[in-house]
Amino acid sequence: MPDNQIRLGVILGDGVGHDVLPVMVDVVTEAAGACGIAVEPTVYDYGAAHYLEHGTPQPGDPNELVREMARKHDAIMFGSAGLDPRIPEEVNCRDLLRALRYELDLYVNLRPAPLLDQRFSPLKKEVPIDLVVIRENTEGLMARMGGNFKKGTTDEVAITEDINTYKGVERICRYAFEYARENGYPKVTMADKHGSVIHAHGLWQRVFWETSEKFPDIEGEHKFIDTLCMDLVMFPEHFGVLVTNNMFGDILSDLCASLVGGVGLAASGCIHPGRVCMFEPVHGTAPDIALKGIANPFAAVLTGRIMLNTLGHKDAAGLIWEAIRGAVAEGQVTGDLGGSLNTRGVGEFLCRKVSELAKQGV
Ligand code: NAD
Ligand code: MN
Repeated sequence: MPDNQIRLGVILGDGVGHDVLPVMVDVVTEAAGACGIAVEPTVYDYGAAHYLEHGTPQPGDPNELVREMARKHDAIMFGSAGLDPRIPEEVNCRDLLRALRYELDLYVNLRPAPLLDQRFSPLKKEVPIDLVVIRENTEGLMARMGGNFKKGTTDEVAITEDINTYKGVERICRYAFEYARENGYPKVTMADKHGSVIHAHGLWQRVFWETSEKFPDIEGEHKFIDTLCMDLVMFPEHFGVLVTNNMFGDILSDLCASLVGGVGLAASGCIHPGRVCMFEPVHGTAPDIALKGIANPFAAVLTGRIMLNTLGHKDAAGLIWEAIRGAVAEGQVTGDLGGSLNTRGVGEFLCRKVSELAKQGV
């Protein structure tokens, strides 16, 4: 990939992805352009729109499609998968989303939760909050290994296997320490339950501390997951980078997102350093508001910021962050954040703000 070009694959998906991804593309293009980087987006209608036209959510086999997209693009943006008011309930592009995460071995699920404004926090006390959940994204209980014996009878036995490999745990712990070092966080907190999940989380213990020793400039800390949930609500300002397994990370990232304002603001990246990665807002298809042009595009735009950071375009990512802060400070926001703008209106404000900030040399 040349340093001054991003070939961006944009998968609209089901529901609200159609509202928010075009705004993300506009703002990312503006911010990257201001830093001398050309964004070349290719929009794919995979999901509900593709189903309406062709009878399937995506053409052909999802794994093959994903491999082909990874050959053509430097990064992939994904909207959301799930309920869409236009199509039958059982139809969606979840298989495509799963293929993106697993086929590309995107083992990091990065979910930053920075507090933009005190009024977005549901807590009574005013403290700075800047959390980053780093969730293992390819193993654990979600690897879909296991089975059902005597299914559908009163003798049924259901087994889900919790997969934890040395390779998987080591690479996610190492990523967490590297992320902390690169982004100025003094500490990495690992959450597990090794007192009772002795085998799998015993591995996390050994590997986390072994990795910690290689990063003497960053403090390593351990918390049991249940204690960490309590502490995050009581003292969120004590924490920064959090690393944990797939299931705990899924739950923890929703807790952290709600501490800083909820789904309208929550962004994520599915990352394998050095490979083509996929970026998606944390929220679902928002069927109640989808396709009405009123959804909050912040989560999608902040997802664009994670993409630019991941590709090494820190200046362009910084412009997006400052533009979003400006929108919040000036009340140029959608209804869910107490404003009166629609999705496009927020997008237009952000593009103007990015261009102003770039001219001021911010
Ligand atoms: P959701 O995130 O779609 O919506 C929850 C609530 O938040 C709704 O009231 C919605 O209107 C609101 N909301 C979501 N995004 C918003 C935005 N950008 N601006 C303003 N408000 C927003 O979660 P849900 O309702 O539990 O799920 C709906 C569908 O999405 C389901 O089919 C679910 O399986 C799917 N889902 C997909 C993903 C994904 O693609 N990664 C994640 C979660 C849920
Ligand atoms: Mn989740």
